[in-house]
Amino acid sequence: LQPIQVIGGGLAGTEAAWQIARAGIPVILWEMRPERLSPAHHTSELAELVCSNSFGAKESDRATGLLHAELRHLGSVVIGKADDHSVPAGGALAVDRAWFSRDLTETLSAHPLIELRRGAVLDLPEDGIVVLATGPLTSPELSEKLRQFAGQEYLSFFDAASPIVVGESINRDIAFLASRYDKGDAAYLNCPMNREQYLAFWQALCNAEQAELKDFERETAKFFEACLPIEELAQRGEDTMRYGPLKPVGLSDSRTGERPYAIIQLRQEDKAGQLWNMVGFQTNLRWGEQKRIFTMIPGLENAEFVRLGVMHRNTFINAPELLLASLQFKQRPTLLAAGQLIGTEGYTAAAAGGWLAGTNAARLALGLSPLTLPPTTMMGALFEFISSASPKHFQPMPPNFGILPELSVKIKNKQQRYGAYRDRSLLDLAVWQRQLTAEKAVDLELAA
Ligand code: FAD
Repeated sequence: LQPIQVIGGGLAGTEAAWQIARAGIPVILWEMRPERLSPAHHTSELAELVCSNSFGAKESDRATGLLHAELRHLGSVVIGKADDHSVPAGGALAVDRAWFSRDLTETLSAHPLIELRRGAVLDLPEDGIVVLATGPLTSPELSEKLRQFAGQEYLSFFDAASPIVVGESINRDIAFLASRYDKGDAAYLNCPMNREQYLAFWQALCNAEQAELKDFERETAKFFEACLPIEELAQRGEDTMRYGPLKPVGLSDSRTGERPYAIIQLRQEDKAGQLWNMVGFQTNLRWGEQKRIFTMIPGLENAEFVRLGVMHRNTFINAPELLLASLQFKQRPTLLAAGQLIGTEGYTAAAAGGWLAGTNAARLALGLSPLTLPPTTMMGALFEFISSASPKHFQPMPPNFGILPELSVKIKNKQQRYGAYRDRSLLDLAVWQRQLTAEKAVDLELAA
């Protein structure tokens, strides 16, 4: 069998290579380090954790915890090693980063079907099955080739993501559904502010604490001029936001018939309308500050945020335009992608993408049809989301419960609801795995 090539030995590439080898297919894993380091990586080890040593909350009724649980069921090497090298961190799955990465490097290097090659890949291989997992800091030459392959407008180098709010947590007694000038469907939820509320909000933004930018991000901050952080707009003057994203023109509160002093709009993010994106609220504020200040907005007093705003360097493709939920490129199904590059957010989600892309690459090599996971699992929902979200406004997404299909019964208590999501996911995953095993047995029988 011709080896499958995996490009990038980060969280996603390491998992993908392992799953390919586990399926009995030879794999070449390319990693540019130590010959070339990205601005955030410092070692030559596989799956280096570039910042925090945490894989997120570990309880299985939390979004990342559920993803850990699913990955354990599926035999993930990344989560397996994270468990082996975990360190006490309260409710989080945190690891001893040096041992974690060293163990993965040794484990993969020792596998007879994995060949670890050091060096930057400069172009997309033309033939064979390939998994692209070069992460948020993909080398410039390969980024350029990817841009040529995918199309100029489908590769981004920064995310300027606004916070996303769970629909159920928005107070509909205050927020009203309408489009500016009544154009098209009433596609926005509008949070109205009077003058007093606006001034208090403006003051809070002007005095808010910002997150530290990394050196390489500071250098590139000029790219954001066309997409200014909300706190920067606030600092430019009392009314700047009212002439920008908070402008009230073309909107009146149907209940009072009056035009509010300012309006914050939220745009529907997913097909089911469970997630709402705060329009124009890309921000560098610290997360605690975002929660404190954005819950001052009328209608968002009890907002539950599935993602807070970020602005950082991040190479990612427009997955809804380019990828299938199986993580194959639509225009070249033997090319698959995983990790931060496909617009999932975080270490655990990268490992999850690596699992699916690696598994499907191996299945293609074996002549089997690629898999998608049940949409009720966190993994299935995440890949369904990135492949079917609106391409126009696509920004990276972390695992969260808002992307899962609703439960058949309404559960008001949040913790119980999340527990029910978890139970449904793990049950559906077990059934799915059993079906897969049964199909494999039939295939083997037919082959014999
Ligand atoms: P990576 O882990 O970055 O792996 C990509 C690999 O590809 C790297 O090893 C790189 O050297 C290699 N590579 C790149 N180009 C080439 C090439 N041409 N040829 C060969 N190899 C190549 N997520 C969190 O969950 N927690 C955090 O605290 C966190 N902090 C972050 C801080 C920064 C500064 C950045 C940029 C990202 C951060 N992230 C964090 C997001 C994080 O990058 C991902 O969660 C995770 O690393 C993504 O895994 P990946 O496999 O997609 O990419």
